[in-house]
Amino acid sequence: MRDELSKEPIGYLVASPWIVELMMQELEAEFFSANGAAMYIPIVASPDAELRQKFDSVNIPVRGTYSAEEVGLIASECSKCPGFFHVAKSNVVVEVEPFPGFGAGQSRTGKVLVTHLHSYATPFIRYDLGDIASLSPSCECGHNGPTLSNIIGRSKALLKHADGRYSVFHLRGGQMAEAIELDEYRIRQTTLTDIVVEIARERDISAEECETVRSLVRKFSGDEFNIHILSVRNIDWGESKKRLGFRNELLARDL
Ligand SMILES: [Zn+2]
Repeated sequence: MRDELSKEPIGYLVASPWIVELMMQELEAEFFSANGAAMYIPIVASPDAELRQKFDSVNIPVRGTYSAEEVGLIASECSKCPGFFHVAKSNVVVEVEPFPGFGAGQSRTGKVLVTHLHSYATPFIRYDLGDIASLSPSCECGHNGPTLSNIIGRSKALLKHADGRYSVFHLRGGQMAEAIELDEYRIRQTTLTDIVVEIARERDISAEECETVRSLVRKFSGDEFNIHILSVRNIDWGESKKRLGFRNELLARDL
């Protein structure tokens, strides 16, 4: 990928944060500026502060868009307030259906419902994208129109707590690989109180390594979960083509 990116000036870099984080494990941010990246346009999810900071440090602006295959552009990231997205009002009407228990006092946070204004053959009316976000009537920058923030893609990176709350679970592959030598891994929330971590590699993992992984996962999950570490040779991904590092088996049923 590095060789390909070096062949021509990059221009607009359009990629998911996971792909870019993966590249950043091998390449410095300077690689992107040296190879002519004019802007980073994250898709699928919002990059975290650390990744933004890396692009900031080499003066590459990060400007996300929020879109869906079914309706096209939904919102564009504010040039002044990172993480806030101005809704494309001429294309869609966005509503959020409050999602009980998500965060405290965030009454406008919930499931994103979009109505597409231009799909006559197949109307999309209050269509549930499976995403969660907060909606405000305006943006801090002065933009006087609906603005989305805290966009959490496809509800998959959420932990469900016993008290009904949801929290974001964002442990990156790189952090896992730094903590323990592994071929692959998978983390699953299986019940309200249990998280199962499978670590796949040739030899068994030691008690000490188990503890390292357990405390890493706990940093992101909070203290109330029983975290089970399984040492396996291979992970049985079944039919699934998407090998997600985290899967919430409760939400897969709920939402
Ligand atoms: Zn704004």
